[in-house]
Amino acid sequence: METLSQETKEKKVFMETFGCQSNVLESDHVTGLLLKNHFSITPIAKEADVILFNTCSIREHAEHKVFSRLGQLGDWKREKEGRVIGVMGCMATSYKNQLLERAPFLDMVVGPDQYMKVPQVIREAAGTGVSQVLADFDPVYFPENDPRRLAQPHKAFIEIMKGCDKFCTFCVVPFTRGREISRPTESILEEVATIAQAGVKEVMLLGQNVNSYGLGLNSKGKGITFSQLVKLVGEIKGIQRVRFMTSHPLDMPDDLIEVMATVPAVCNSIHLPVQCGSDKVLKRMNRKYSVAHYLVQVQKLRSSIKDLFITTDLIVGFPGEEEKDFQGTLDLLDEVKYDAVYSFKYSPRLGTPAARMLDQVSGEVQDERLARLNEKAWKQASEACESRLGKIEEVLVDGPADKTPDAYYGKSRQNRTVVFPGKGYKAGDVVKVKIESHKVANLYGTTI
Ligand code: SF4
Repeated sequence: METLSQETKEKKVFMETFGCQSNVLESDHVTGLLLKNHFSITPIAKEADVILFNTCSIREHAEHKVFSRLGQLGDWKREKEGRVIGVMGCMATSYKNQLLERAPFLDMVVGPDQYMKVPQVIREAAGTGVSQVLADFDPVYFPENDPRRLAQPHKAFIEIMKGCDKFCTFCVVPFTRGREISRPTESILEEVATIAQAGVKEVMLLGQNVNSYGLGLNSKGKGITFSQLVKLVGEIKGIQRVRFMTSHPLDMPDDLIEVMATVPAVCNSIHLPVQCGSDKVLKRMNRKYSVAHYLVQVQKLRSSIKDLFITTDLIVGFPGEEEKDFQGTLDLLDEVKYDAVYSFKYSPRLGTPAARMLDQVSGEVQDERLARLNEKAWKQASEACESRLGKIEEVLVDGPADKTPDAYYGKSRQNRTVVFPGKGYKAGDVVKVKIESHKVANLYGTTI
């Protein structure tokens, strides 16, 4: 064993993370595991002995990037014996052995429920050269008991559930992450209390659809709802900010809005993906709500929560989307006036029902609609920034600003980036900043 530890101490691991916050969190856990197992971490790929990609399958573009990176690594692998290349994350569960066919020099394919085995699999691959595919789901595995490296000392992602039961027709998540499972409440509260004692002030509760939290636990008679969980987390000593994502618009309960409005630590921001502004397309997406239902939810949120920051995801060019459907999306933007929109062209995903729909929209039409959508969304986001001028924002400092000398940046309670001049601040400080200008989506001001 001692010899093994000495060997692995010399192995440097480079990890590149694609996709959502869940992947970022899981990369932190894998990093913690590797450090505990005597590997070292390098941010420079060419210095590494092991290259890991934590991948995303949600869009074709993200997968292309990984295939392109893999395509460049064949020579690198052959140059030195014992080098290891691995794919983790959603592409591991969606492609499994097919990844080895695409990249025969790949040593390991490890899905999200198998991360605890990563150190061992690297050792075996380096020693034997035999490729391994470990992509099975494990319904009881949550990585909370594994070591974890916090990427920032004052903020943390907390996984509260995994998987999804919604089966939107465009989405691979139910296939790559499995069915919805909630993490036991005590385990979540314990983790938040521990990291709060260590100095964490802001937590983001993560799940594919957080509003379903506790459903499986409740059936066993010992769970709580998501709204109750948010309240309990917000009451933990030291926690000053609670955020969560993602909320499915169908399930958002009224008592969650009440918790957001009344528990001081819960931030006034929400990501509420609508995906499209046409009932016909929403139905084909299997989203199970109408535009009217969505607008009622927005109206309830806005009327209860002061200065609500609201963002959304939109897909353009879903199969069968006609110009009048797209116009519905533009009208929805006019109605809601989002603070930020994350817009994407639809791309067919392996094994999903939408990929088999016959009326796919051409790339040219998708490009043209995306440009129109983005123009409107940017204008509205800019107007929303304008409305913050003269306001005092409470800013949780993240660190020195990259592009502005002698300045720091952090996030407001709404989750806007705020840049301000100053000296000697550290990550985790809380300052008040009067907003004087904005550029793109960033706010600029001075401390008061
Ligand atoms: S709610 Fe729909 S889009 Fe979101 S993860 Fe589940 S299946 Fe995918």
